[in-house]
Amino acid sequence: MTKSQIGTTSPVGEQCPRFRGAAVFGAALSLALAVCPLFAHAAEGPRSNAKPITEVRQPAPTQAPAVVAKAAPEARPAAPAADWRSLVSEAGRRVDIDRASIKKDETGKTVAWGRIVLDKEVPDPRSSAAYKVVQAYNRYDCANRTFATLRRSFLRGDGEVLREEEVKAAAELPVRSGSIEDRLLREICRPQTPGEVRREAERAAGRVLEVASFDLQKANEAVVAKETKKAVKKVATSEEAVAPARAAPADPAAALEARMAKAPAPRTTAAPRRVVAREHEVHWDYEGPGGPENWGKLKPEFAQCAKGTRQSPIDLRDSIVVDQEPIQFQYEQAPFRIVDNGHTVQVTPQGNNFITVMGRTYRLTQFHFHRPSEERINGRDFDMVAHLVHQSADGRLAVVAVLLERGEANPTIQTLWNNLPLEKQDEFQPSTASLDPASLLPKDRRYLAYMGSLTTPPCTEGVLWLVIRQPAQLSADQIGIFSRLYRNNARPVQPGNGRLIKESR
Ligand SMILES: [Zn+2]
Repeated sequence: MTKSQIGTTSPVGEQCPRFRGAAVFGAALSLALAVCPLFAHAAEGPRSNAKPITEVRQPAPTQAPAVVAKAAPEARPAAPAADWRSLVSEAGRRVDIDRASIKKDETGKTVAWGRIVLDKEVPDPRSSAAYKVVQAYNRYDCANRTFATLRRSFLRGDGEVLREEEVKAAAELPVRSGSIEDRLLREICRPQTPGEVRREAERAAGRVLEVASFDLQKANEAVVAKETKKAVKKVATSEEAVAPARAAPADPAAALEARMAKAPAPRTTAAPRRVVAREHEVHWDYEGPGGPENWGKLKPEFAQCAKGTRQSPIDLRDSIVVDQEPIQFQYEQAPFRIVDNGHTVQVTPQGNNFITVMGRTYRLTQFHFHRPSEERINGRDFDMVAHLVHQSADGRLAVVAVLLERGEANPTIQTLWNNLPLEKQDEFQPSTASLDPASLLPKDRRYLAYMGSLTTPPCTEGVLWLVIRQPAQLSADQIGIFSRLYRNNARPVQPGNGRLIKESR
């Protein structure tokens, strides 16, 4: 997306000051709807007829959305100004958050509005129209790195609302490293004001106090100083981002640092071992104490991993063979981001990639790999599998599984391996390479379909699985490269519990 395109595709905040954007879609187009006061007041008539504020306040194309939003309250004094910030701008879309909407809810979680502005309109499967902007009201659990979409709305390019919806049973979804949700979460969960930064630093210091022993006094001092510095650094960045809209108090960061430096050294009697135990408590893995058999016990949010009855993966057998409509793939060549997130290699294509199946359209948010394949077909597993994770505008997940077996070298996978980052968690966007996700698919795309779950914690259910029956190929060398990173990152098969499995004839 070019800069001029960005400037011309953000009519929402201008026309409706409260119109808060949808956060997130990235890993999952999870949007939410926004309630615009113009829209809520029936007396004012449909929004499309409301006089757009932009008629008199048309911003220059290069003007930041925040500037536009600031102008709105003059026209509508009752409405607090939205403060749209562009967080991610990439081929096909831009993701904004409304910083003014970030707040803690009654449970202590953080809620915020966000939006995705696409550079072209997308057909809306629920109406005959097309939308260009999806806004979402999301709730973030900063400690556990999950989020849920509470409301969402779909808007045309001109800002007219096509559809709004409240998400009844909002599902808590994990935030994967390197995803757009991850960036939103980091933005939304970081301390927002000097006061919050101070509390954050004090909390960090408190954690250390709680577990430190007298013998560790020196080490603790260092940790406190480090945490404080980190927090201070954060507020500095945050204040830079906010300028010039908000005048920062005279160097609060430096004052805080000075205060913390003078703080007396922590001194408690708790055993230092507890620090280690606590860290391990939350770390899931494919073997050892954090292995799949223990996932359900690691955290309350992971309970479904143990208690769920529609878990994935499964051994696909006893399917009913029927005429299933083909999955319609609308994928395109585009740049991509790649990250080794500590559990797998994950790729985020930057293009507009969609599938349509069973009457619903889903956007491709990321794909990643497992070795060996997690799913089995009649008891057989495969060398690897690629999981292409899609999310519909109403938050449903559909995963296309492409089984991979040893054979010819796979040029697309070679492109990915050529661009593997050297360090875990260090996401990389190659400057020249691009890929078309369709090139991962085999020729014969008949598939097996069943309802299951995420195969990693929190093992959320309600996921539509589409397992392409014909495997694609990759070379022994290419399998070997992935094995160097992940020898085994497959969750074992789960009980089928009589689930219906449909298979294309
Ligand atoms: Zn997977």
